[in-house]
Amino acid sequence: MSDHEDDIIFWQDVLESVQAGRAANLKCPFCQKESIEVTKRERVTSVKCTAKGCGHYIEGRFSAEDVAE
Ligand SMILES: [Zn+2]
Repeated sequence: MSDHEDDIIFWQDVLESVQAGRAANLKCPFCQKESIEVTKRERVTSVKCTAKGCGHYIEGRFSAEDVAE
């Protein structure tokens, strides 16, 4: 198992919120701060914690229309 697959488990709740269109006030699963920044480039969504000393992030195709494919 890769580290990336590990991370997806931690990000599950955040990714579900992003899929549901709630990109504000998301809580980082690592530092528990509401410092998550969601950006979309092409069809790739980046979910990143901007808290100092944390910086965990995950990237992929998480939007609802992509999942529906
Ligand atoms: Zn964090």
